[in-house]
Amino acid sequence: MFRALVVRKDEDGGKTHAAVEEIGEDRLPAGDVTVAVEYSTVNYKDGLCIGPGGGLVRSYPHVPGIDLAGTVERSDDARYRPGDKVVLTGWRVGEVYWGGYAQKARVKADWLVPLPAGLTTRQAMAVGTAGFTAMLAVMALEDHGIKEGPVLVTGAAGGVGSVATAILAKLGHEVAGVTGRPETASYLESLGATRIVAREEIAETVKRPLESETWGGCVDAVGGAMLARALGQMKYGASVAAVGLAGGTALPATVIPFLLRGVNLLGIDSVMQPCANRLRAWERIAADLPMDRLEAMIRPAVLSDLPVLGGEILKGQVRGRVVVDVNA
Ligand code: NDP
Repeated sequence: MFRALVVRKDEDGGKTHAAVEEIGEDRLPAGDVTVAVEYSTVNYKDGLCIGPGGGLVRSYPHVPGIDLAGTVERSDDARYRPGDKVVLTGWRVGEVYWGGYAQKARVKADWLVPLPAGLTTRQAMAVGTAGFTAMLAVMALEDHGIKEGPVLVTGAAGGVGSVATAILAKLGHEVAGVTGRPETASYLESLGATRIVAREEIAETVKRPLESETWGGCVDAVGGAMLARALGQMKYGASVAAVGLAGGTALPATVIPFLLRGVNLLGIDSVMQPCANRLRAWERIAADLPMDRLEAMIRPAVLSDLPVLGGEILKGQVRGRVVVDVNA
């Protein structure tokens, strides 16, 4: 038997309920590797899947948790042996497949990444999906060239924003963090932000398609009006890595920043990234993310905290990264 956060749906297909339950190993789905999970995290999608699912969950009962880190317990795949430490993000685990909010997970070997040297399973999950995505965004900006000047990070106090801020600052970039929570200013400065931009300053509707050339690059976790506004403030030839939609899915922008300033809009998808890119991103995380700053982002949690935390992350109220110790 093992413990898991199980989401069930009323028999009439109505409301969902999430609670910690003991379940038997015979209930684990098919897969070639069984992982003794140590840590998972809370991401925006987890908030959706702990609740009604937002269209992501295909069948109930469901175990959410879009990422996990732990130790291989059993393996039918030659690449992994019992005792190996592994990390998993993406591949629709925790959405379509049972995820990391459990003491055990059975998954496909192809979805796993060996724990990068220099990281513990707890640190790997402090990074988790949000931090892995932040690294992919930074790598995409680098591939297109980060221009002179500050790099804008939107949703800065959230998971993606916090890790992006710390990585960019460590790489020597000036970072301007946009936040709707002025009380997080000293936290963002401790991660390396040199400038704090109030959300209202940049979330207003686009009035002019082009404004002063201000930002040398942008990691955008918010989308919507904020992304549209940022596009018009980019330096000539600079890039925006669009990661998220915490502020909405509509994009009230014009084509002018692309035509007259050669701005690049780079879409970042962490879910289906090929394995080689995953390994490259995790190696970069181990090398370029200051671990003391990562520690400052962590809010510890246990399985029974998750129903409340799922609601908080959907309201944009979580700061940094929630690390769930599934065995506590
Ligand atoms: P968090 O909730 O931790 O952070 C989002 C931040 O956005 C909040 O902390 C808040 O920052 C800001 N925010 C929230 N609501 C609004 C709003 N209405 N208007 C403006 N700003 C808002 O989430 P994550 O950082 O984990 O994820 C951010 C986004 O990225 C989500 O949409 C998520 O689904 C997406 N994502 C995408 C991935 C991909 O592969 N493309 C992978 C991982 C995440 P502040 O308080 O500082 O203003």
